[in-house]
Amino acid sequence: MKITHREIISRIKKTDPKSHKGTLGHALIIGGSYGKIGSVCLSAKAALRTGCGLATVFLPECGYDIIQSVVPEAMAITDVQHKCISDIQFDFLPQAIGIGLGMGQDAATQQALYAFLRQSTQPLVIDADALNILSGHQEWLSLVPKGSVLTPHPKEFERLIGKSDSVAHSVAQAKTFSARHQVVLVLKGAPTKIVWQNEVFENTTGNAALATAGSGDVLTGMITSLIAQSYHPLDAALIAVYLHGKTADLALPETGMQAFIASDIINYIGKAYL
Ligand code: AMP
Ligand code: MG
Repeated sequence: MKITHREIISRIKKTDPKSHKGTLGHALIIGGSYGKIGSVCLSAKAALRTGCGLATVFLPECGYDIIQSVVPEAMAITDVQHKCISDIQFDFLPQAIGIGLGMGQDAATQQALYAFLRQSTQPLVIDADALNILSGHQEWLSLVPKGSVLTPHPKEFERLIGKSDSVAHSVAQAKTFSARHQVVLVLKGAPTKIVWQNEVFENTTGNAALATAGSGDVLTGMITSLIAQSYHPLDAALIAVYLHGKTADLALPETGMQAFIASDIINYIGKAYL
């Protein structure tokens, strides 16, 4: 089924005028490693622009000054390690968690992901290196909470689920995977497809301007933000993918195809909502 504008608008909730930041959801973004702190900066900023009331980033110690200066609206918690995540600890209850972006695949990070999944019960948004780590440890997939959203790009899909001969084949594989693990799959591409068990939704927004570094990190922040705002994970994926694509359509006349960068996605989220 193609995702229509009308369908998305009907799923977007109105903000209660009595809301305060504590009622609009707290998103936690877990990721980053030395040289890849930008990923969590983009993601946290995108989460806040998508409307959650609060955002916290859990990242290695080397990213502390960076995140606090680049995204002053976000809070930060650091790992004991300087360069990578080794032990995921936080002392509050976020309404949604996005994990994996820029995280790397250090042995300590892999163990941290395993320990984190073992004690996770709420649906997660799983992206990038968290997907890559899971690809190498398929037995850990049983620990992924039901209703989680996994966002592989084609290479990550191949590592996680396997090679496919055609688009139809990859969709069939995705349906089986989604049903077996009870997860929403966001198959990023042109166009992006969202698979939930037997249902397949095809996005109708976006263009090749989105083929740029950090684009997926922004999308993960947007999905996490919507789940934090109490959207069902499938709705969160549908709305975020649609709005993410629409930012690129709206920005094109101004930025052009070549100059568009991931920060532009964030800057156009407000207009995309209108
Ligand atoms: P990532 O590879 O994780 O940074 O994610 C890239 C994001 O950009 C995904 O949301 C893709 O669907 C989107 N994207 C990349 N290339 C295109 C394209 N040619 N047309 C539309 N969307 C694209
Ligand atoms: Mg990515």
